[in-house]
Amino acid sequence: MSDTVTTNPRALKIAIIGGSISGCISAILLARAGHDVTVYERSARGLIGRGGGVATSRGVLDRLRALDILDAGFPAIPFHGLRMAKITPEAPYIGHSPLVRALDMHCVNWSGLWENLRKRVPDTAYRRGVELISATQTQQESVALCFADGHKTEADLVLFADGYGSVGRRMLFPEAELVYRGYLVWRGVLPDGELNDLAPLETHPRFSFATMPGSFVSFVVPSREGATTPGQRTINWAAYLPLPDTDVPAFMIDKEGQPRRGTIPSGAMRDAQDTQLKALMAKQLPAYYADLLARTSGNQIQLIYTCDLPAYGKGRMCLIGDAGMVVQPLTGAGVFKALSNAEGLARALERPDLTRALIDWSGEQTLVAKRMLRMGCDMEQAFIWNTIDLARATPEDCADWFDGAIDIAEEYSYFAE
Ligand SMILES: Cc1cc2nc3c(=O)[nH]c(=O)nc-3n(C[C@H](O)[C@H](O)[C@H](O)COP(=O)(O)OP(=O)(O)OC[C@H]3O[C@@H](n4cnc5c(N)ncnc54)[C@H](O)[C@@H]3O)c2cc1C
Repeated sequence: MSDTVTTNPRALKIAIIGGSISGCISAILLARAGHDVTVYERSARGLIGRGGGVATSRGVLDRLRALDILDAGFPAIPFHGLRMAKITPEAPYIGHSPLVRALDMHCVNWSGLWENLRKRVPDTAYRRGVELISATQTQQESVALCFADGHKTEADLVLFADGYGSVGRRMLFPEAELVYRGYLVWRGVLPDGELNDLAPLETHPRFSFATMPGSFVSFVVPSREGATTPGQRTINWAAYLPLPDTDVPAFMIDKEGQPRRGTIPSGAMRDAQDTQLKALMAKQLPAYYADLLARTSGNQIQLIYTCDLPAYGKGRMCLIGDAGMVVQPLTGAGVFKALSNAEGLARALERPDLTRALIDWSGEQTLVAKRMLRMGCDMEQAFIWNTIDLARATPEDCADWFDGAIDIAEEYSYFAE
């Protein structure tokens, strides 16, 4: 980072735009390789407290710990089975489940994860409250950067780790569109200590709704402080709800009456909208989960988009994490993409021919992301639009349906082998 003593003969001055999960992982790995790294993060107040839970695979978590990107004892809650379920007259409380699929999933607290990554990036290399507005590659194989506060600088290499609405992606691939998938995720968190019955939380359910397409999932994560004891954890839930594009403008209005693009953050949702969705879910979900939603406040909305790309970079500018190809959150691939993009890049930068190395890296990342996108499309069909009727199908029918429905990407999934 800026104050690192560089011994790498191929050391580069690297600017990372965005200091969330991908930005921090990249900064840690590239600084260790001897590069001079600076992170530029738009948010001035830090990212703590703004996230809920995030799921990834045991393999990804093990790798982060083994590389000392995360503390060895970083807390996570494992789930070994996905309980596919639906409300039936006989199972009105936690639903009927004809199918449990083996999982390799570990769930972590988003803020705890970010905090653990962030502490490995020195303050001198992490600049907060700076928003990039333009980046231009110059003839001399360097990139000129311009920030909203008027600050200007140059770097040998720029990594855009600036999330799904990436400025970098729009500059590099202006023709690439975010494609709305016809549904949104409405999500929230609740301390598990607020519930009397904690037993259903020990399973990882995915519900289909009683009479409409869509899906509901809930899982527990450690508290932000890392507590994993029942009664001190955080429940993270998410309801995937269809919303036709024609209804999006009217739906995406916040409590101040202002239109929002993509996200209505916690605290900004209209109360009447939240109440209406809770009433809808009371008809679609078993009582335990409808009650869980009813107790939650400060919920948020996110429209679901994907973005396909021909490459992960051009010249001396690269895309990392959600700034690259945007895949469905159903894939649970956010942390995996961040790690594999960053690890791949650190390896590529060891090669003598930087131009060739960046082209090869981009090709590899694009191939993997396209496979994740295809898996996400399968998952949308299986979990949102065309779920087998879990109330009526036999366990054998469900297993056959499930195995045929999702083509698991070989590089990553949260299902067990
Ligand atoms: C505050 C926050 C909370 C989140 N909580 C969850 C969660 O609970 N569960 C979950 O599954 N996913 C969550 N996500 C998304 C998750 O982090 C990503 O899907 C995934 O991990 C990949 O992260 P990323 O670093 O590529 O992108 P992101 O996490 O989206 O980070 C992008 C970063 O870039 C910064 N940025 C954007 N534009 C600019 C600019 N022009 N100049 C400088 N900086 C810029 C943003 O402020 C942000 O910090 C959250 C993201 C954020 C930012």
